[in-house]
Amino acid sequence: MTLSRRLFLSMLMTGTALPARAADPDVVVIGAGVAGLAAARSLMAANKAVLVVEARERIGGRAVTDSTTFGFPFDLGAQWIEAGRTNPAMAILKEMNAKPLPDRLEQAIYVAGTEAPREEYARFEKIAIDASRKLVEALKKAPDAPVGRVLVAQDPLERLAYAMVGPLESGVELGELSARDFMRQPETEPQYSVAEGLGALVARWGAKVPVKLGTRVVRVDSTGPQVLVVTTNGQLSAKAVIVTVPTGVLASGPFGFAPQLSVARREAIAQVPMALYNKIALSFGRKVIDAPAGRSVTGLTRNDQAFDAVVRPYNRDAAIVFVGGAQARQLEEEGTGAALAFAVSALAEIYGNDLRGLMVRSSVTRWGKDPFARGSWSMATPGNADKRLVLAQPHHDRLFFAGEATDPVWATRVGGAYASGVRAAREALAILGKK
Ligand SMILES: Cc1cc2nc3c(=O)[nH]c(=O)nc-3n(C[C@H](O)[C@H](O)[C@H](O)COP(=O)(O)OP(=O)(O)OC[C@H]3O[C@@H](n4cnc5c(N)ncnc54)[C@H](O)[C@@H]3O)c2cc1C
Repeated sequence: MTLSRRLFLSMLMTGTALPARAADPDVVVIGAGVAGLAAARSLMAANKAVLVVEARERIGGRAVTDSTTFGFPFDLGAQWIEAGRTNPAMAILKEMNAKPLPDRLEQAIYVAGTEAPREEYARFEKIAIDASRKLVEALKKAPDAPVGRVLVAQDPLERLAYAMVGPLESGVELGELSARDFMRQPETEPQYSVAEGLGALVARWGAKVPVKLGTRVVRVDSTGPQVLVVTTNGQLSAKAVIVTVPTGVLASGPFGFAPQLSVARREAIAQVPMALYNKIALSFGRKVIDAPAGRSVTGLTRNDQAFDAVVRPYNRDAAIVFVGGAQARQLEEEGTGAALAFAVSALAEIYGNDLRGLMVRSSVTRWGKDPFARGSWSMATPGNADKRLVLAQPHHDRLFFAGEATDPVWATRVGGAYASGVRAAREALAILGKK
């Protein structure tokens, strides 16, 4: 038997003529976040051989808990399961027997360091209800609009309320936010967390899934009979592949496909980019924040910068400050020191200058600089909310796509990641069945 040089090279490059090896998995899943783990668990339940390939040295992706720095679980990424009555990710709690802890809904509002008077709380609520009505009205008149065109703040309290639609909820400024993509999301209540931290729960839930860690995928080739997955750690082949990496990673370049992704999908990846939302956690040497444990604070600083915070989490002398949108991007550019300085100053405006200089531990997330996330979650640009449906479509028969960005209802959230993983596994099972 002879083997031509050309055939030899094509085998090397694409695996085209290679038969399946006994050890080849039925399905390779790329990414061990909630979507990848949900897909893998569904396929394993259907008795398929699965291998998950993960670039990081851990599973969980954007769900990760730091249980050591502060002595309480600090979720660097996802913490809450929102809209808990219908959220698909409640299945994770159920499967792991984890008790859902309802979030306390009280929120303290501060403008320029001073708590809003009682009547301003009522006005704040009214602004939120009116904002929702205005967005619904706008969507009756046009298929979509930038939220910034519908909600135009007239005073600091409105600016703060609208920041809770834009940077602090969606991770983007109001002008970049699609009203349709925002209004698609189910309500946030009831909102649950879990005692060990959501990231720690996800890590436990995914522990039995076979994962090849520290292995970055650089290319997926579905031109041959087997799909070839080229990684920094060798090549794999499978009958089907499920891709779960964030749109930010797909857009960033070093991840190639053969055949190339369609123009429509590339356009969808560009128009459903990553938003940015970061957490700045700090603990103090003694009690410097006079507030009930776990109080939620939403504030506008004297410099007109909006932030959220949870103070005295777990009854500790600590605080977690949340920033989003342009401000989060700027703080990432300026570095960890700038983020900490912002958080200390925002807290000092409210709780007094005593806390300056008393910080003992800190942790600052930089999801935008993370090469395997490139942001916090996906948000469609105005006019492009339906492009999520394009992201969810299979590519070239045996390549399926999951990840929060691909879910038409629960996108941005752990629920979207979970639901999309289960959906992609079902799609893969359908073609495996045919074979
Ligand atoms: C700060 C922050 C707060 C959040 N808060 C909440 C919240 O309270 N509630 C909520 O529901 N959601 C929240 N989210 C969003 C939630 O974390 C995500 O929607 C969800 O975790 C996404 O899961 P996923 O599986 O789609 O993606 P990911 O978790 O990003 O998984 C994708 C995986 O692919 C891996 N990967 C990337 N590139 C490659 C490659 N080339 N090769 C191999 N592997 C690769 C990544 O390392 C990652 O593990 C938050 C996110 C952030 C960042």
